[in-house]
Amino acid sequence: MIVVVVLFATVLLRAAIVLTFVYLMLPTKRVCPRCGEPLTLIKHSIMRRVLPVVEHRWCLECGWSGVVRPPQSRVINRTT
Ligand SMILES: [Zn+2]
Repeated sequence: MIVVVVLFATVLLRAAIVLTFVYLMLPTKRVCPRCGEPLTLIKHSIMRRVLPVVEHRWCLECGWSGVVRPPQSRVINRTT
């Protein structure tokens, strides 16, 4: 039984490491990685509750769509 627990713990640890690196690789800027235009926020009611740490954004110019990290602080974002 202890072997199963240890193997399951290693699987969970690997998943946590992969998810952390994927999250850190997400872009943080609110400009399009292709053309540099500002991105538009797409609001998902379900995704907001399930994954509140990421935002789905869309570029109106070139049609790029992807998931980005929200800025660290909304107050700082409003002033810039
Ligand atoms: Zn674009």
